[in-house]
Amino acid sequence: MARRRGYSVVHLEREAGARGASVRNFGLIWVSGRRAGPELALALRARELWEEIAASAPGTGFRPAGSLTVAASDAELSVLAEAAELPDAKQRDFELLGPPGVRAVNPALRGELAGGLYCRADAIVEPRRALPALRAMLKTGYEWLPGREAVEVAPHGIRDQRGEWHRGDLVVLCTGANLTGVAGPHLAASAHNLRRVRLQMLQTAQFHEPLTTAVADGDSLRYYPAYDVPSRTLLPPQSPVAAAHRAQLLLVQRADGGLTIGDTHSYDEPFSFDVDEDPYDHLRARASALLGCELPPVRRRWAGVYSEVTGTSELYHRSAVAPGVVLVTGPGGRGMTCSPAIAEETFPR
Ligand SMILES: Cc1cc2nc3c(=O)[nH]c(=O)nc-3n(C[C@H](O)[C@H](O)[C@H](O)COP(=O)(O)OP(=O)(O)OC[C@H]3O[C@@H](n4cnc5c(N)ncnc54)[C@H](O)[C@@H]3O)c2cc1C
Repeated sequence: MARRRGYSVVHLEREAGARGASVRNFGLIWVSGRRAGPELALALRARELWEEIAASAPGTGFRPAGSLTVAASDAELSVLAEAAELPDAKQRDFELLGPPGVRAVNPALRGELAGGLYCRADAIVEPRRALPALRAMLKTGYEWLPGREAVEVAPHGIRDQRGEWHRGDLVVLCTGANLTGVAGPHLAASAHNLRRVRLQMLQTAQFHEPLTTAVADGDSLRYYPAYDVPSRTLLPPQSPVAAAHRAQLLLVQRADGGLTIGDTHSYDEPFSFDVDEDPYDHLRARASALLGCELPPVRRRWAGVYSEVTGTSELYHRSAVAPGVVLVTGPGGRGMTCSPAIAEETFPR
């Protein structure tokens, strides 16, 4: 977004390569679950921008695959049916489908299901490839400086750990879930509460057939604000393992054919430094039940942490910390979706 506005850009990253939430996520450009109003508007604008950017950076792996949120019971189907009748269902391109309709859209879903909500607005990118693809697209006017940690802020400038100052018209601090360090004092003084959330994920070997859409299970209805409809209160309790780990099944096929499967939500710090097998067993069983077959072997497991604003109607944290220095973080579980639109609105019109 800075390059589009004609700025030349210096990009500092404290690690040798990005290792934060932006490479650990599902790559879901998720419009379906967003809260009606400004959150949906931001996601829709971001979806538009992702598609536009991907035309110049095909390595991002953007594909307008859509998603299916699958109901396993009549109670879950009622929630989907209500969501499909909401005034903004058209913007999300929702369509309620029975089991044959679900299978016509995604033939790999051969398991038991009561129906599903097709969201044509949802899309997928490849999180492990997107950042290098974006950097490759920025051929001129862009300098990438890995291994540089911003440690001090001054008006229109930042100092890295080597003592070198980087100055410009605008400094944008995007420090992710790092709530201490250079952003720490500003976040501590801010009116916004930020919390960190830890998620567990896994990836399988190549699945034997294409998954034409992303897939979510009925547990996702409990977490996404778009499904805050009257019949949601009638959902039976989650299974004990899912409830203990605040798990929902999200399932995305990677460009190489593997399946990314998640996730869990943990809010209590200190976070575990290891990954817990119980929610993985649960998520694999759910995925296997929807696909109606055994999953390929697991190849990778990891956890990721994002930061999110709480107790505010703001969708993320943005504050001026010094003249010409703005801090942007805390987009929560919608950061991969909304990042291009957040970047766009970070620049003064
Ligand atoms: C497991 C998981 C799954 C998710 N799935 C999705 C999804 O499918 N769709 C969706 O929309 N969102 C998803 N999210 C949320 C999304 O990934 C995040 O909201 C988003 O990536 C946050 O981006 P960020 O740039 O703020 O943070 P990050 O991606 O963490 O980037 C921060 C970067 O800043 C660097 N850094 C920190 N401090 C400094 C410093 N002082 N100097 C220099 N560099 C510094 C860090 O090393 C890091 O590379 C998911 C998150 C997780 C963890």
